[in-house]
Amino acid sequence: MASSYDDIVVGLGAMGSAAAYHLALRGRRVLGLEQFEPGHDRGSSHGGTRMIRQSYFEDPSYVPLVLRSYQLWRGLEEAVGESLLEITGGLYLGPDGCRTVSGARESARRWGLPHEMLDAAEIRRRFPAFAPADGTVGLLEPEAGFLRPERAVLAHVTAARAAGAEIRTGDQVTFWEPTRDGGVWVRTTSGTFRAARLLVTSGAWAPVLLKARWLPLQVERQVQYWFRPADPAAPYAVGAFPCWIWEHDGVQAYGFPAVDGAAPKVGLFRQGTPTTAVTVDRTVHEEEVAQMRSYLAGTLPALATGSLEDAGTCLYTTSPDEHFVIGAHPQAAQVIFATGFSGHGFKFAPVVGEILADLAIDGTTQHDCSLFAPDRFSARPGS
Ligand SMILES: Cc1cc2nc3c(=O)[nH]c(=O)nc-3n(C[C@H](O)[C@H](O)[C@H](O)COP(=O)(O)OP(=O)(O)OC[C@H]3O[C@@H](n4cnc5c(N)ncnc54)[C@H](O)[C@@H]3O)c2cc1C
Repeated sequence: MASSYDDIVVGLGAMGSAAAYHLALRGRRVLGLEQFEPGHDRGSSHGGTRMIRQSYFEDPSYVPLVLRSYQLWRGLEEAVGESLLEITGGLYLGPDGCRTVSGARESARRWGLPHEMLDAAEIRRRFPAFAPADGTVGLLEPEAGFLRPERAVLAHVTAARAAGAEIRTGDQVTFWEPTRDGGVWVRTTSGTFRAARLLVTSGAWAPVLLKARWLPLQVERQVQYWFRPADPAAPYAVGAFPCWIWEHDGVQAYGFPAVDGAAPKVGLFRQGTPTTAVTVDRTVHEEEVAQMRSYLAGTLPALATGSLEDAGTCLYTTSPDEHFVIGAHPQAAQVIFATGFSGHGFKFAPVVGEILADLAIDGTTQHDCSLFAPDRFSARPGS
């Protein structure tokens, strides 16, 4: 007889570890399954830092969710007695009227978020590492900062265990199927398990696991780079240097201060190459490093000439409109999934965990998830 649970969570990365925690907190009998070890570097939740920001240029309706996430991250820090989130301020730059700055401004105004608008001279004065051309504008928000992703995933797993969840690592789900009584059974490399609900939070592996040909997701290979400038002194320290996103020549890049002894990290926000979680090329190539340096030459010149301390790949799972996809499987209401985080999901992990617990237990949530409806793609012309 297979062991039986209220909920099985497949994939204990950012979202699954949070879901397992929130379900266990609410007294559910939870089994969390992870194919590798939590905090690993083969998915989407590694690389030392993830940005968290409030003036959300992507859409103002993310703002209440991110504000709830701040509360939940702080609660998790208390639960595990560890620091996961650091406030550094966030600077979003680009030509006047670009989406990065005007979208952030729209969210800030709509939700009354603290922010300041800076012109190029003021940006150069306050943050000398940045070299904006005249005409560049910036929105500075004091409450942005970064999370430590590996530690945050491990913290959710630890807290989930402490709240009563059973966690099995090194165990891969190979198959699932609805049962006649409205539940689900799951086969893994170690056995079979049954549950009333299945939560699929398997990141870049989700398109395969969901048997989701109806879901137009693209897995993208992305690179994170750490450049050590010749003079690594004050300008890049936490406290002096903000997290940033810059829209320059139509391309968005982002970066962080020097965190935990590492060099400042940078990356191109979109611009990834299509791949799969299994076949991805994990080597970072010289042309890619050159492309990143060339972007930095026009924005943060001292980093452009710095030595490359480290570089590594990471995966985005991108939806056509770059908004998340959260809800019930169209052919099996007992299967709930959260995917399509499109390169900006990490900061929301705890609120996504809360939403998934709501959906598993109540079938609905108080959080506004209208932007994330899975059926929004089926109405697209030609699909
Ligand atoms: C370079 C880069 C920079 C980013 N920067 C930011 C940022 O600054 N701010 C931000 O908010 N977001 C950022 N993101 C996006 C964010 O990190 C992702 O949206 C988020 O990590 C996705 O979490 P996830 O839980 O869906 O996936 P993951 O964390 O990858 O978790 C999925 C898990 O499922 C497991 N799994 C898969 N299949 C199975 C199976 N069959 N059986 C068992 N386990 C399985 C995997 O091993 C994995 O551990 C960035 C992403 C990248 C790649």
